[in-house]
Amino acid sequence: MLSYRHSFHAGNHADVLKHTVLSLIIEALNEKDKPYLYLDTHAGAGRYLLSGEHAERTGEYMEGIARIWQRDDLPEEMASYMSCIKALNPNDKLRFYPGSPLIARHLLRPYDKLSLTELHSSDYPMLRSEFAKDDRARTERSDGYQQLKSKLPPLSRRGLVLIDPPYEIKSDYQAVVKGIQEGYKRFGTGVYALWYPVVLRQQIKRMFAELEASGIRRILQIELAVRPDSDRFGMTGSGMVVINPPWKLEQQMNNVLPWLHQHLVPAGTGHTKISWIVPE
Ligand code: SAM
Repeated sequence: MLSYRHSFHAGNHADVLKHTVLSLIIEALNEKDKPYLYLDTHAGAGRYLLSGEHAERTGEYMEGIARIWQRDDLPEEMASYMSCIKALNPNDKLRFYPGSPLIARHLLRPYDKLSLTELHSSDYPMLRSEFAKDDRARTERSDGYQQLKSKLPPLSRRGLVLIDPPYEIKSDYQAVVKGIQEGYKRFGTGVYALWYPVVLRQQIKRMFAELEASGIRRILQIELAVRPDSDRFGMTGSGMVVINPPWKLEQQMNNVLPWLHQHLVPAGTGHTKISWIVPE
């Protein structure tokens, strides 16, 4: 039984980080004319109503996207991400937040493909109807980790894989590494973007050690924490692990992260970090 619902968390600081990185990777892939596959293993519902009961109950988006979406001093690296937010909210009122499938839908070209999987019985139908009229997209109610075996390598031999599980069960920390290894074995030139929460630092260290031991190279870590590490207060930050990152991504995030931290965390607590888990 899956209990996690992303609608409680949509638009929070972790989504802002994840979707900024996602949009920059997509922008980089778009620089070449050749088509590619966007594979989203844990896609969620696609669109989230911020005035809905779930988002209102936690108010997490108020400390995330609501803090920055109308600023006029955004770093230029955030333009694509913000164009997705504005496309869903054309009237100056923040009603909807786009999940990763909608960010990709907005930024991919007519000849790229989307493969989206989601397991939850309530979120999957929303995802399916969101994409019913998009010929580029295939949605499936199935296990995201399996897709790393069955959908790779893509026919186009270019691709971006987003792996964004809820980490509801501790085994997700091992499952993501195993899944990446399966995918990488089949498709070593793909870009893999893995999201992780900072809840217990030890779990992240273990996951990174397993990634290092896998023999995979070019693994970049990008992290934004809103509070100091703590093993008592839930999620204090989040990060993205990017394998085979576009060459500009490190510099772009070096430009963006201080700005994001300053505006998402006015109190100045927490930290930002960009470093190579495994270099070239
Ligand atoms: N990627 C989405 C985004 O950025 O908007 C958010 C995804 S949310 C963090 C994680 C999703 O994974 C939840 O909707 C959950 O129902 C789904 N899920 C959990 N286990 C799964 C599995 N084994 N395969 C596919 N989806 C799963």
